[in-house]
Amino acid sequence: MTLSKLKELVQQVLPEVDVLIGYKQGFDPVHATPAFVTKPEQINDLIWNPLCVHNLCSYLPFMKDKKVGVIVKGCDSRTIVQYMQEKLIDRTKVRVIGIPCRGVISVNKVLHAVNHQPIESINFEGGNLVVKTPEGPKTIPMDEVMPAKCSICQYPTPLNYDHLVGEAIQSDKPKEKVFEDIKEFEKLSLEERRKYWEKEFDRCIRCYACRNACPMCVCQDQCLAESRDSHWTSQRDDLTEKYMFHMIHSLHLAGRCIECGECERVCPMEIPVAKIKKKIGMELKELFDYVPGINPEDTPPMYTFKAEEATIQEHKL
Ligand code: SF4
Ligand code: SF4
Ligand code: SF4
Repeated sequence: MTLSKLKELVQQVLPEVDVLIGYKQGFDPVHATPAFVTKPEQINDLIWNPLCVHNLCSYLPFMKDKKVGVIVKGCDSRTIVQYMQEKLIDRTKVRVIGIPCRGVISVNKVLHAVNHQPIESINFEGGNLVVKTPEGPKTIPMDEVMPAKCSICQYPTPLNYDHLVGEAIQSDKPKEKVFEDIKEFEKLSLEERRKYWEKEFDRCIRCYACRNACPMCVCQDQCLAESRDSHWTSQRDDLTEKYMFHMIHSLHLAGRCIECGECERVCPMEIPVAKIKKKIGMELKELFDYVPGINPEDTPPMYTFKAEEATIQEHKL
């Protein structure tokens, strides 16, 4: 039973840390929320189920003065690895509880599936979700309401942890599907792609939720998107400025984006912003044969310069 094993481990880890970050039930049945556990009596509030969508590692660079325990899924664990590479955390001060994961839900997809009816309860039965609304219960296959990242997940078991809750599981998702959506998108003409992104970015309200939720966006208050005198982008809200903001965000993530999908999950306008980062990730894989957040000993490719890169066939560029 994963939840009771998880609680046992938290009980064990809690005396060694200042705070342990996990999940608890949120303000309604479809939302979980981060739980900051400092006292044993709070352990009972912890939950573990497909509502546990957040990448809790995002808090770690801002809590460097504390000893922190954190619960991670496979995808989240790549954040820990990337932080180690970039020296954004002191790993000796972090206790990582890893949970092998079979997928979470996209809250937006669930809300769309029930036509935005108020949700009275959610139960997970086998590979299905049973969602009760005033119209009655509705059974939805989990596959239909998972975020895209889960349908191609290559790392269901955390890559870096101190404790593992339960048995490790292997991915059953074919590797060749990972960039399939991007390759499909690239079959469109340049003009079609330009129109697609213009339509998407036109809805951007520059709330910066995508940046704030991104575990690798660590500049935050120093972000040039908020500078009053930035050379690259202004505070105007026209399409050019929105484009510019997203290009800056994406390029700052080149070789660093660990594909957690948080940027896309939190966007109130449902703009597929992770797609741009995925495209850059695909290029980086092709050019440098590099995947971020896998090996703590790796150096991200943009941290180094070589006159001739071993894996780039320059004549093809
Ligand atoms: S991407 Fe993998 S580890 Fe992450 S939530 Fe989905 S199934 Fe779990
Ligand atoms: S979260 Fe969405 S609306 Fe807000 S800045 Fe990012 S893309 Fe724009
Ligand atoms: S850009 Fe998006 S997918 Fe990449 S690390 Fe940041 S939040 Fe995660």
